[in-house]
Amino acid sequence: DLALRGITKLFSGFTAVDDLDLHVPAGSFFALLGPSGCGKSTTLRMVAGLEHPTRGRILIGDDDVTGTKAHQREVNTVFQSYALFPHLSVLENVAFGLRRRKVPDALGRAAKVLDLVELGHLAQRRPAQLSGGQQQRVALARAVVNEPHVLLLDEPLGALDMKLRRQMQAELKQIQQEVGITFIHVTHDQEEALTMADTVAVMNAGRIEQIGPPGELYDLPRTAFVANFLGKSN
Ligand code: ATP
Ligand code: MG
Repeated sequence: DLALRGITKLFSGFTAVDDLDLHVPAGSFFALLGPSGCGKSTTLRMVAGLEHPTRGRILIGDDDVTGTKAHQREVNTVFQSYALFPHLSVLENVAFGLRRRKVPDALGRAAKVLDLVELGHLAQRRPAQLSGGQQQRVALARAVVNEPHVLLLDEPLGALDMKLRRQMQAELKQIQQEVGITFIHVTHDQEEALTMADTVAVMNAGRIEQIGPPGELYDLPRTAFVANFLGKSN
């Protein structure tokens, strides 16, 4: 499991994240939903170790990782802009991290994960010869192949058009269920959060407004903010 305890992040006096408590069960699909600027990315970056909290603790499993560096955490991140290596094939892109760590049979493992995201037949192409959705799936495969405890996804579908976005939502959900890795998925799209996640945390101005299963948030919003945010189509 992953836990945030009293996490606060100040940027020169401005409170970006305000005394956040979260518990994310291992293997769950957890969505962090909220409007622009509410502190979603800052929260993810603290879990990843790319940013350090001003106050509070971060626990992964039984380990307090609060003071550790990004590379010491078994966490991988997929961002909206998924920089693939243009000169490497799709397969080599996915195998890159494994090869660098000298993991045996890097290409074989990469090929298996490429099959999982249904790109096995495009393994020898360069990224530029793929569609946006296919490139995003390569980025996902590249993160999943490292078998992290937690996969952080910051608006991973944000660059895709609506049709592809809806299609990728279903695929992403399926991949999460197949690999069993904890996914923390950041989005400002309430439909995306509600359709994909087991648990949704609604954030507003650095705080959690409500956490629960999608149906509960939708049927029983506890604040006007949650009701409005889930009700409107943005
Ligand atoms: P979006 O949906 O637009 O990506 P977000 O919820 O991810 O928004 P954050 O990027 O976490 O929002 O930012 C939260 C707040 O903290 C914003 O007001 C932002 O301007 C501020 N902020 C983020 N990073 C820094 C920084 N490095 N220095 C100062 N302020 C920052
Ligand atoms: Mg953000």
